Amino acid sequence: MIDLRSDTVTRPSERMRAAMAAAEVGDDVFGEDPTINRLEALAAARFDREAAIWVPSGSMGNTIAVKLHTEPGSELIIEERGHILNFELGAAAVISGVTIRAVKCADGGGHLAWDDIAPAIRKNPPYYQAATKLICLENSHNFAGGSVISADATREICDRAHSEGLAVHLDGARIFNAATALNCDVKELTRACDSVMFCLSKGLGAPAGSMLVGSKEFIERARSWRKRLGGGMRQVGVLAAAGIIALEDGPALLERDHRNAKRLASGLAEIPGIAIDPENVATNIVIFDVSNARLSAAEIVAKLKEKGVLAIGFGTQIRMVTHLDIADDDIDTALSAIKQILL
Ligand SMILES: *Cc1c(COP(=O)(O)O)cnc(C)c1O
Repeated sequence: MIDLRSDTVTRPSERMRAAMAAAEVGDDVFGEDPTINRLEALAAARFDREAAIWVPSGSMGNTIAVKLHTEPGSELIIEERGHILNFELGAAAVISGVTIRAVKCADGGGHLAWDDIAPAIRKNPPYYQAATKLICLENSHNFAGGSVISADATREICDRAHSEGLAVHLDGARIFNAATALNCDVKELTRACDSVMFCLSKGLGAPAGSMLVGSKEFIERARSWRKRLGGGMRQVGVLAAAGIIALEDGPALLERDHRNAKRLASGLAEIPGIAIDPENVATNIVIFDVSNARLSAAEIVAKLKEKGVLAIGFGTQIRMVTHLDIADDDIDTALSAIKQILL
């Protein structure tokens, strides 16, 4: 199977498995797992922050950040296709008691500008309205087709948010993809944000785990919330050993995924009935529209599966994601399968 459903489907490499088997471990709830401690220090240094904490999933990292930046009965602002709004089962409402105010971005590319955000802010609202506490950004933006927002644009939003007394959390599940596409260091890309979550388990190739980075005080409070949410784990160095390899070696491997995504998009653009602009494919996510194809997205996905290619359909769109386990010639195979189905 050529599995293009997500970059979460990668299996740990032989090197990772060997490192996991050999990992030095201890009880992380007691702070005694040397391997997780090393990974947390590496992540903090990589982002030039005081501290970092490993969390079992990106969703838990985002949930903890939302909890720490808000108070019950307040609001957060996010672009309408954001992961925190659409794919985290209302965790912000359930765990943090906050309303999510979804806003559209004027340019359609998934990234908010200050002018999109400003009208939605409730700074000192009357007593019967909830106050805005937090802005959540996403880079790269998953359901906007892996689009990226630059360091300058991120900084502008953060600076203006801070001057309004608002915090900014970056859902950087794929921040290394964004940094690769922008040819920018993750430090520069994320410096202005109050907290950053990134996934080890996606393009970087670890079997599990994400990191939350921020100030020492923020991460200490995050540690209590992680435990409260059931995320306090014991000999987790077994997973951290894979995470260290993901963090050290993973970023350099993303460029190939981006090249493959671009080539996939260019091939798709030539197939009648498929709408996609390869120019808009900046990272490893390819989302194309099939409204004008002779089959529906669900039918195309089902036929692709028969041909050994897995993708995800939603509405009139199909998503394909390149990753470590997709070889260059898998792109050719996938393209010829789609051609057979649609021509
Ligand atoms: C995958 C993802 C997450 C959540 O990560 P999980 O580990 O699946 O919980 C958060 N944000 C974005 C943008 C993602 O793509």
